[in-house]
Amino acid sequence: MKVYFIGAGPGDPKLITVKGQEIIAQADVIIYAGSLVNPEVLNHRKPEAIVYNSAAMTLPEVLAVMEEAVANNQTVARVHTGDPSIYGAIKEQMDALETKNIPYEIIPGVSSFLAAAASLKSEYTLPGISQTVILTRLEGRTPVPEKEKLAGLATHQASMCIFLSSGMIKEVVAQLLTAYPPATPVAVVYKASWPEELIIRGTLATIEEEVKKQGVNKTALILVGSFLDSEYELSRLYDPSFSHEYRRASS
Ligand code: SAH
Repeated sequence: MKVYFIGAGPGDPKLITVKGQEIIAQADVIIYAGSLVNPEVLNHRKPEAIVYNSAAMTLPEVLAVMEEAVANNQTVARVHTGDPSIYGAIKEQMDALETKNIPYEIIPGVSSFLAAAASLKSEYTLPGISQTVILTRLEGRTPVPEKEKLAGLATHQASMCIFLSSGMIKEVVAQLLTAYPPATPVAVVYKASWPEELIIRGTLATIEEEVKKQGVNKTALILVGSFLDSEYELSRLYDPSFSHEYRRASS
């Protein structure tokens, strides 16, 4: 038996993968990150499945539950928000499972930065604007390496998705303004894909006041860059005069 790390998606229970949902439906033990995972993704579990909320547990407690379940031939679903590879703290769990020789597998999920782009009807990689997406955060209790400070990343003027930082919007804006012009568009997406989703649009000059007015200070992404609002070039992929592997140019 095995531990499955499952990306639950950003909130909408229909945004989990088919594979993730099937494993939850078969799992004997479910450990979910209750602070962010929508509990509705667990609705199709077996009636006898035991459910733990990891929000109130320590790493050794989570590992002990996994170890005991696998020793009893049970399947464990460890459910993380979005995709577990982004600020999911799964590496420390995987490493511990390796040392205990407990088999595990990862089922990816739809990260919140993808759900936020969908809600905004935006594309991060517009030709002539930016071909790079930076996923980052402001330093909080977890430090950020010196070379990745927001002010430094801002010099690239790439499309940026800032996690875990909406409660520090003032500091985020201050750091970004060291490199971006004040008119740079910003969108803050609170609870993307949840029924209570809220989109706040503005610029680096206006966003702080608006975010504070709306009381948003957690479960939100700060998206920055000209991809949000600008003139761009059409893509080569669908350009009639451009050939590629799957299509000849029309003459
Ligand atoms: N693994 C997750 C991120 C976990 S870190 C993922 O892939 O999305 C938690 C942070 O993710 C939050 O502080 C917030 O910045 C962001 N977040 C998670 N779910 C969100 C949602 N539905 N809408 C907006 N931001 C979200």
